[in-house]
Amino acid sequence: MTSIEVLYQHYLNHPIVSTDTRTIIKGCMFFALRGENFDANTFAAEALQLGAAFVIVDREEFALNENCILVPDVLTALQDLATYHRKKLNIPVIGLTGSNGKTTTKELIKAVLSEKYQVFATKGNLNNHIGVPLSILSISHAVEIAVIEMGANHQKEIAMLCEIAQPTHGLITNIGLAHLDGFGGFEGVKKGKAELYAYLKKAHGYTFIYRNNPYLIEMSSTADLTKVVYYGTAKENSISGELIDTDPLIELKWSYLEHTFNAKANLTGTYNFENILAAICIGNFFAIKPEEINRGLANYFPVNNRSQLTKTTNNSVICDFYNANPSSMMAALNNLKSLSAKHKTVIIGDMFELGDEAAKQHQNIIELALGFNFDELIFIGENFFAFKNQYQGKFFNTRAEAQLYLTQHTLKDSLILLKGSRGMALEQLLPLL
Ligand code: ATP
Ligand code: MG
Repeated sequence: MTSIEVLYQHYLNHPIVSTDTRTIIKGCMFFALRGENFDANTFAAEALQLGAAFVIVDREEFALNENCILVPDVLTALQDLATYHRKKLNIPVIGLTGSNGKTTTKELIKAVLSEKYQVFATKGNLNNHIGVPLSILSISHAVEIAVIEMGANHQKEIAMLCEIAQPTHGLITNIGLAHLDGFGGFEGVKKGKAELYAYLKKAHGYTFIYRNNPYLIEMSSTADLTKVVYYGTAKENSISGELIDTDPLIELKWSYLEHTFNAKANLTGTYNFENILAAICIGNFFAIKPEEINRGLANYFPVNNRSQLTKTTNNSVICDFYNANPSSMMAALNNLKSLSAKHKTVIIGDMFELGDEAAKQHQNIIELALGFNFDELIFIGENFFAFKNQYQGKFFNTRAEAQLYLTQHTLKDSLILLKGSRGMALEQLLPLL
């Protein structure tokens, strides 16, 4: 037997995989990964003590007993095991990537497909070279369809994740200004994301494409895709849709063939229209009835701080602070502008990973926000702070300074957009709002 087969036999008997001693479950397989600041090989004994059935290590001195499996490289072993498991699963796997809206669209697709199937979807945001294999290894044989989120911040990453997840169906939500430094600018983002199309072409998979997005159309034609299912504008039997209401939650009309239906979602943000339409299109493709599609959408309530409208004691807050990049920031500001609240406040934090573009992109956002005449503008973080002398608004170098300000100046009866990159941790301001 090759070592991957041995590993797979162990996995079949112990199908729970862990990479974190803090969340070890008895009887799991613990993969001792090396990170920037730690080497989990050194936790091998602890993992066994906590109940791991097997520990996979790549340093001989930590192969303590017969329950330790020594491999040349633990990360490769994890990825290879996931790939091996995926091959044994004879189910559709929907792979999604894109600059914005992956997690939201993934959750919506899951909500819709769950009306009829046993669905597995990536938990949270586990979408990278470790998260995707962990997701695949969480798919049991009872699962009928899997939805796998794939994130990337450099070239060849999506291609690599596709080799592990082997999607039979896929979509790119959109192309935007995200991870510009790692991808090498906007053209680089397009190239990197198009690796999903290239994989689907090679694997004869189906691609779902939002027809109203010219970048996706261009990329699909470059990739010479043939098995394509479009959504967006009404054309050739595709799912089409129209917004009915966006204030503050989304309501839309969607059509398929000669039938039209109304759907509601508990999401704020006009940009979610295309995320919802993607889920409708995929539900319809997998033969979910229209009323079940709508029920799935209506029953999805975000609890992940993305496009989530929350009432606090004094205000309404659009909790969108899970992450930020120029595209999603623009979408969020445009959305706030379109809402009818009497008093509107913007509290936004720095956007990370923009490389050389950082100053320009922050300046653009300041100008966009100022142009909308919101009632209060609060900018937080050193990238925004660099412009404090050029523009009106309150600028704070750190979140702590903004925290102090908000403690002393209570906001009341306002609709507040709270958004920034993950590292800005703007959720810490929520209790003050
Ligand atoms: P990550 O890269 O962190 O995994 P993601 O692609 O999974 O992000 P979500 O977490 O679903 O994206 O959404 C993050 C934010 O992106 C939302 O809160 C919203 O501000 C914005 N967003 C969501 N969908 C779109 C869209 N279709 N177009 C533009 N912005 C969007
Ligand atoms: Mg995500």
